[in-house]
Amino acid sequence: MPLYTADALVLRTYKLGEADRIVVFLTRDRGKKRGVAQSARRPRSRFVGALEPLTEVRVAYFEKEQRELVNLNYAESVRSPMATPNPEALGYSAYFAELLDAVAAEADPDERLYRLGTATLEALTAGGPVAPIARYFECWLLRLQGVYPPDVACAECGTDFATDDGAYLAVEGHGFVCRSCHGAHGTDDRFLSSRALAFIRAARRVKPAEAAGLGASDSVLRELDMAHRALLASHLDRQLKSVRVVQALGRPSR
Ligand SMILES: [Zn+2]
Repeated sequence: MPLYTADALVLRTYKLGEADRIVVFLTRDRGKKRGVAQSARRPRSRFVGALEPLTEVRVAYFEKEQRELVNLNYAESVRSPMATPNPEALGYSAYFAELLDAVAAEADPDERLYRLGTATLEALTAGGPVAPIARYFECWLLRLQGVYPPDVACAECGTDFATDDGAYLAVEGHGFVCRSCHGAHGTDDRFLSSRALAFIRAARRVKPAEAAGLGASDSVLRELDMAHRALLASHLDRQLKSVRVVQALGRPSR
């Protein structure tokens, strides 16, 4: 029974039996795993403080051939969302972890997805406004899932929107279309202003910690929020539980 050690992100946990937990975690090198953390619900468990969603951990686990569940030996917190100075950030860390869980494949490593998770956690714990980090995270997740096209340009006529006054984004299909090509399109298209397009473009070049510095106004962040929600609902095919939690937190004022 081989023992593996790995860098990982905790995605979610649920109760098992009297005192155990099942932990879903994303490893950097071997993709998503499910493991049993024995006695994790006991007060003096060695897992205390390490199993909050989005916690970056160092784990050791045993894996048996033909077994879906691994056995967690230990999980040591490297960086915890609990360290954030912003109380709002905890609701968001659960939201980010749930999105990662929804798109990550079992035992299929995805270095870029993993780095998106850890860099986002780093930005959350550094403090500052959460909304730009959330919109940034969604931009990248949608891009890595192939929902956001590689180019922010009209899918029909190839126009670059840089000097244009916004574009339409197809929720069901893929890609952006310009105002003049939009006429032939379906009603599920969403209008994004040129400032929202600028945020999507700029997000490709910076880290999540720099998302607030991109200067998106509240109305631009709201525009992106609505568009991303429609895209995620359509492409992930289910309502995420933590979306409601984040909504209940209300919209950040900055
Ligand atoms: Zn066009």
